[in-house]
Amino acid sequence: MQKTISFPHMGNYNVPIENMLRHIFAGHKIMTAPNITKRTLELGSKHSPDFVCVPFKYNLGNYIEALESGANVLIQAGGGCRYGYYAEVQEQILRDLGYKFEFVKLMSGKVNPVDLYRVSKRIGTPLSFGRFLYFVLLAIDMVKKLDELEAYIRENVGFEVVEGSLERLHAELLERLKRVDCFKELRAVYKTYGEKIRGVEINKPDDCLKVGIVGELYTLMEPFSNFFLERELAKSRIQVSRFITVTYLLFEKSRMKKKTLKSAGRYLKYELGADGTDSVEKSKTLAEKGYDGMIHVKPFGCIPEINAMPVLQNISRDYKMPILYFSFDSQTSETGIKTRLEAFIDMITMRKEKGV
Ligand code: SF4
Repeated sequence: MQKTISFPHMGNYNVPIENMLRHIFAGHKIMTAPNITKRTLELGSKHSPDFVCVPFKYNLGNYIEALESGANVLIQAGGGCRYGYYAEVQEQILRDLGYKFEFVKLMSGKVNPVDLYRVSKRIGTPLSFGRFLYFVLLAIDMVKKLDELEAYIRENVGFEVVEGSLERLHAELLERLKRVDCFKELRAVYKTYGEKIRGVEINKPDDCLKVGIVGELYTLMEPFSNFFLERELAKSRIQVSRFITVTYLLFEKSRMKKKTLKSAGRYLKYELGADGTDSVEKSKTLAEKGYDGMIHVKPFGCIPEINAMPVLQNISRDYKMPILYFSFDSQTSETGIKTRLEAFIDMITMRKEKGV
């Protein structure tokens, strides 16, 4: 029987994930959950425990909308922190709501290709282990390339001479990546779009405003959940830097654990868990580089980031660098966020003009 397999959103990573699943589960239908809207969050919040962190609510909303659209297999990646317990609770909530589906949690601990293959066999992959691994590695390479190009776009989109050029190329790139079938094709697409994207005319002064964004991974990487913060900053001709990406989380974070803690210096003696240590270390590093401000984002009630906040206040005081704190939940008002952001941008602009 043909299955309809779905998974939740996070930024643009649905593109490599959908590509990978399309190859691994050939013969089945792959369906990215419908795009996130206010309804997604409303549905997720309505059926979630009140106190749970907001990524849980977004994911649950994604699952409900996917089930409504015909999905019958739901994939949950698994992960650390409270995220590691999401799967069981979400599955139970969805079953209590009366949905019939197969629920698959991909990882319980470290990423292990043999375990992933076993789970994929259970869902129905017709591939040998070798071919399975090929498409997993292809998706990983796609994620790396996408992260690299998106970092360039993030830092430069506010300064393009012809407004909308990078956004248009970015959208084209995502569409093209969906159809990639092998490494050779991926390299060609990366080369073509890398050249096109880097070839867009940019007018960026050396002393432009620079802002770093740190915080919890989901609210950092899913633009809907932070009210498109990066786009808003770019509109004010600000260079935006963010370090947390899937590439960083999968390949750099654990390798650099000790180095990150050491680099946080006197601000941290122990790790804060999840992304808290990175929030502190990156804020200190960017303050030393002369950034004009930082924005810290987190879901309401996110413990690792709550722990990071007092340390960030010390960094802000010591380096005289303003830090704006945003806490997101289903009740967060977009107007409130935009007003505070505007005030922050005005403040860092005036500081720059006065040479503070
Ligand atoms: S890092 Fe924060 S938002 Fe993510 S699971 Fe942990 S507590 Fe929840």
